[in-house]
Amino acid sequence: MRAVLTALMLCLAGLGCRTYHNGVPVREALVEPNAYNLKYKYGGKMSDLRYITIHNTWNSAPAQRERDYLNNRPDKVYISYHFVVDEQGAIQTMPLDECAWHAGDGRGPGNRNSLGIEIARSRCYGRDEQLYRQAEENAVNLIAWLLDRYKLSVDDLRMHKDWSGKKCPHRILEENRWDEFKARVAVSLYNLQR
Ligand SMILES: [Zn+2]
Repeated sequence: MRAVLTALMLCLAGLGCRTYHNGVPVREALVEPNAYNLKYKYGGKMSDLRYITIHNTWNSAPAQRERDYLNNRPDKVYISYHFVVDEQGAIQTMPLDECAWHAGDGRGPGNRNSLGIEIARSRCYGRDEQLYRQAEENAVNLIAWLLDRYKLSVDDLRMHKDWSGKKCPHRILEENRWDEFKARVAVSLYNLQR
């Protein structure tokens, strides 16, 4: 009972609301809509969601640190994404009906018509390898949930590279696993829908 009350109080304070999407713990911690972030991170209403774009963070930090960095990043770069995922689960950083700046294609369909998913821990190798593997597994299941929710298919998945040529998601590209990644999402989607 005390745990429930604590969770409720954290939730009311906007600190700990957690739900589960396809088994993945998801917490909402939107980038604060202050004047700076509204200019550099909130990209305007998304009229037509047609794709989901996959990224790797290219470092070993956990999702919360990525989110906090994004929230406080003062370098006047237009940059944002919708979810960052690590081994613990996912953090939603933008409203899902808002465009984010993640695909490097300006006002093209990558930024205007796709959700951006950052898979964290992508520079965890060796002893920390499992952190990345679990982060990717959480991303697979979250992405399947999003495809189902928005009536999309695995054919609507894109790599950041597809939009702008950037080598991202670097880890999946280095390991030559894009087809395998999509196949895992397809299995997760199948299991979700049956
Ligand atoms: Zn990227």
